[in-house]
Amino acid sequence: MGHAARPPGGVAPPPRRRGAPTAAGRTGLLGIIGRPVLGSLSPRMHNAALAHLGIEALYLPFEIREASVRDVLRALPALGFWGLNVTIPYKELVPRWLDELDEEAAALGAVNTIVVRGGRLSGHNTDGRGFLTALRAEGGVDLRGEAVLLVGAGGAARAIAFACARGGAARLVIANRDRDRAESLRRSLRRAAPGTEVLAVGTGEEAFASLAGESQILVNATPLGSRRGDPLPVPAGRIRSSQCVVDIVYRPLRTPLLAAAEAAGARCLNGLGMLLYQGALAFRLWTGREAPLEVMRRALLSAPGVRS
Ligand code: NAP
Repeated sequence: MGHAARPPGGVAPPPRRRGAPTAAGRTGLLGIIGRPVLGSLSPRMHNAALAHLGIEALYLPFEIREASVRDVLRALPALGFWGLNVTIPYKELVPRWLDELDEEAAALGAVNTIVVRGGRLSGHNTDGRGFLTALRAEGGVDLRGEAVLLVGAGGAARAIAFACARGGAARLVIANRDRDRAESLRRSLRRAAPGTEVLAVGTGEEAFASLAGESQILVNATPLGSRRGDPLPVPAGRIRSSQCVVDIVYRPLRTPLLAAAEAAGARCLNGLGMLLYQGALAFRLWTGREAPLEVMRRALLSAPGVRS
């Protein structure tokens, strides 16, 4: 068997040529594991970036069962993988089988990016930094000293909540359908980020609407808005022109929440930025090269269901 291209280890592999990889035994391997994963936009985004930079590597989706996750991770070095992304429902499962975790992954107890280097697997989490970078770069928003209301307490919300606290938000309200889950996230944040006032509220509680009205930045980190007929995650009547409204749903990009925010004159940020920047950070970890952001953005925008 021919050997796969050398894992980059911070050094980009030599550019070979533009276009499709030859898959001739020198091709580096990247991918995403999860379930479901076949609709993921990451292969499209990363393959476009690899081809653009002339890096001979291929990024593939692997829809695997939970019982196989450990074996898949063990096999990565022998198969010549450079790394993987990890998505629902395995982000919190994989850390136990990795050799080391970066600070963010350790704080979150969740990994979205694995790097294979020297036969060892390191776990990273680029979701929170992806969110913050998008907020700054695409929305021109610095959340230092601001009051943020975050709807959701699942995996993405957790990463965003830690990022907001570390990014210096003065207050963070975690609002979730299941209030206990919001409360448990509040407790873990209180320890990790004592400088931020953190509150938890159920979205069914009366206080929710007024807390939304008082916040400068509203973030939807639930899937609400991805299906036709979904209710708004935040009551439209509470959105004001002085607020910034962020929806991390990216299919479609213009969700009913963003349409309502636009109508209220608020600043709007869609989910493409977070997806793009978390991917760009992972790309740099794997290849040691700066990600070609505009190539990746175009690849995402051309995916079915994104612009509709
Ligand atoms: P998750 O871990 O399954 O969490 C889902 C969250 O949404 C929970 O807080 C859940 O509340 C809430 N939720 C689900 N259905 C709901 C409903 N019908 N009404 C009210 N709340 C509901 O999922 P996730 O990984 O955090 O992902 C959440 C969304 O963010 C998905 O649409 C995903 O595609 C998107 N996302 C985007 C990016 C990006 O880069 N733009 C990155 C990651 C995720 P309960 O706790 O009450 O069940």
